[in-house]
Parts: sequence; structure tokens; C-alpha cells
Amino acid sequence: STIGVVDETHPGEARVAATPATVTKIVALGYRVLVQSGAGSRASFPDEAYTDAGAQVVDRDTAWAADVVLKVNAPSTEEIGLLADGATLVSLLNPGLNPDLVEQLATRPVTVLAMDAVPRISRAQSMDVLSSMANIAGYRAVVEAAHVFGRFFTGQVTAAGKVPPATVLVAGAGVAGLAAIGAASSLGAVVRAMDPRPEVADQVASIGGEYLPVDVVSEMGSDGYAKETSADYDRRAAEIYSEQAREVDIIITTALIPGRQAPRLVTAADVASMKPGSVIVDMAAAHGGNVEGSVPGEAVVTDNGVTIIGYTDLASRLPAQASQLYGTNLVNLLKLLTPEKDGHVVLDFDDVVQRSITVVRDGETTWPPPPVSVS
Ligand code: NAD
Repeated sequence: STIGVVDETHPGEARVAATPATVTKIVALGYRVLVQSGAGSRASFPDEAYTDAGAQVVDRDTAWAADVVLKVNAPSTEEIGLLADGATLVSLLNPGLNPDLVEQLATRPVTVLAMDAVPRISRAQSMDVLSSMANIAGYRAVVEAAHVFGRFFTGQVTAAGKVPPATVLVAGAGVAGLAAIGAASSLGAVVRAMDPRPEVADQVASIGGEYLPVDVVSEMGSDGYAKETSADYDRRAAEIYSEQAREVDIIITTALIPGRQAPRLVTAADVASMKPGSVIVDMAAAHGGNVEGSVPGEAVVTDNGVTIIGYTDLASRLPAQASQLYGTNLVNLLKLLTPEKDGHVVLDFDDVVQRSITVVRDGETTWPPPPVSVS
């Protein structure tokens, strides 16, 4: 069969669903790869690099007419119409929050797999695009903060005087938060972290951060995700955020609770208490925001000179890296879908991973899938 790699049309999107390196692996699974001309250019992958890797560079309609279409962002209405009958589309879709999109996809006799619905079980980690993108976004959040911050992150003793290290607070020590802690501490900053899951303390310490415990225990969901924190927890945590806001130079917030509005952690009063020149990156800006006053997609400067960054495209701001990791997650899925390595997709509904990501099968809606217990 053919695999189509199409250009991403979402404004500002620079990622692509396959790189020359991942094309080689897809070819090894027996597929013929058709890459839309220019699809990788914003991620620094020119057409010739795909040709050298064994792909054929084609026009838009030809790439969209492939048996399997690989994408990063959900397709537009027009793009859904370009899929061939019987085709399989693999993309980020956020089906839980986009019922209209699911309905629209199911008007076509196609099969649709949502990469953002990979269950969080150990076996599926190699396909977990949410984790690979969160890792990149956490790193990039630190780079964005460092770019705006008018001082070093690292402390120095120079002939021109002693410079103290910057102090960074990271709220939420999941995948993105840990990446941010690692990046900030490798730049030399003093890093502190908050998270209602006390078990992250060791991970935080192992990458150079200091875990700030909240002396109120917060309940955890059985699926390993954070549940909504208790009012007691929030009250005590709010005091710590207020203390920290007065002290630190940089705050990076990554706190999310699946299926809910992001928790509000940093208030306008906290922001107003920060030193001029401080920087906040609210990685939850698109989900309601952890920080009062953050604007999705924008960097705003407050009256007291604090920059609040609410960029929602942090992973796409590292397009070559993000495409490589996303593309590798897709290759790992294709390996699962191609048991004979013969270039033919076989979708196995007895496999919990394949079942969980299938949103539409042959034009029938199969979303939501049965729940999966996390191992
Ligand atoms: P996430 O993006 O859902 O949330 C980010 C972080 O925000 C989490 O650490 C959460 O505890 C934290 N948070 C929630 N409410 C908060 C609050 N009020 N204040 C501060 N922080 C708050 O999380 P994630 O990065 O996707 O990962 C969550 C966990 O799942 C991690 O332990 C991760 O290692 C695990 N995980 C496991 C697998 C797997 O086994 N396959 C894959 C991915 C992640």
C-alpha cells in the first residue's frame, strides 16, 4: 500500500508527520511513501532528503489519495474530502473534545486513528505522542523564558562582579514539567517544583530540582493521572505560590487535569508581586490557563514588567525535533499495524492500543473506546 505524508495547513504549524529518517523505516515495513512537495520544508527537511530516503515526492492530491495518510494536526473539512474511500488517516484529533470532527470523519468510508488517544500503558509508551510533544514543549518553554529574561540563568563569578543564578519555579512535574526542570537546571538555574503527586519528588531531585511539598495530601486518580486537588490542598499550595512569586525570576506552569479546565495556580496578585523583568510561561494557556492574565498564543507584559508567555505551539517551535519524535511514534504504530512487514495495515481490535485509538472504522464511529486500566 501507499503512505501519504501531507503538508500541514494549520497556521503556524511547522511540523511534519514523517522525516527522511522515519521514511526509511516506513519503507522497510513494505510501504511506498508519497510525500507532498514542501511538506517538510518548515522543519528543515527538503524534498530531496525524502527522495534520498526512498520516498516519492508528489503533489497534494496524490499524497492525500494514499491508502494511509499520516498527519500531525486534525484535517480540515476540505481535507477530509480528499481522503480516498477505504483509506486510513492517522493524526492528532483530540476526539474527546471534538465530537463534530469525529462525526464529520465518519461521513466518509474511512478508518481514522487518533494518535492522542494512545493509552498510557507501558507497552504503548513508544507511541505516546502526548509525552514526546510534552517533553519538547517543556524544554522549549525554558528556551522562551531564557530568551525574554534579561539575565543569565547560571550564576557566575566574573571580573565584573558576582552574578547569582536565576531562580525558576516549575508548577506540575509531569512530562513537560520534568523536561522544563531538566532544561532550566542544565542552564544553571536554581529550580523548584510543585506537584500534588508526592511520588515525583525523587524524579525532580534526580534532574537537579528541589521538590516543594504541600503538607496536605492530594488524592490521585486510579489511572495515574492527577485528579482535581482538594480545597485544602489548593489553599496551602496558593500560599506557597504567593511566597515563591515574590522570590523567583521565572515561573513555568504545566498543570493539567485530563478532561477539565486547567487549575488556576498563579493569581494576578502573585504576578503583581513579582520583580520587574520576571518571566512566566503558562503551558496550560490553551486549556484555560494556570496563570491569571495569560493569553493563548501571546506574550503579554504586565504593568509591573512581568512577561507572561501563553504560546500554544511550543512543540512546533522545535519543528525538526518534534517531527522526528512524532514520526518515530508513528513508525512504532505502523510496526504494530503491519505484523507481516508487507506494507499492509491489519487493524486488530483485540489489541487494546489499536482499539483505543480507533475513532472511526470503515465509516462507523467507534469512539469512545472501552476504558483501559493503566499498568
Ligand atoms: P499532565 O500533562 O496530565 O499533567 C501535568 C502535571 O500537572 C502532572 O504531573 C499533574 O500531577 C500536575 N498537576 C495537576 N494538578 C496540579 C495542581 N493543582 N498543581 C500542580 N500540578 C498539578 O501529566 P503528564 O505529563 O501527561 O503525565 C502524568 C503522569 O503520567 C506522569 O507520572 C507520567 O510519568 C505518567 N505517564 C505514564 C505513561 C505510561 O506509562 N505510558 C505515559 C505518559 C505519562
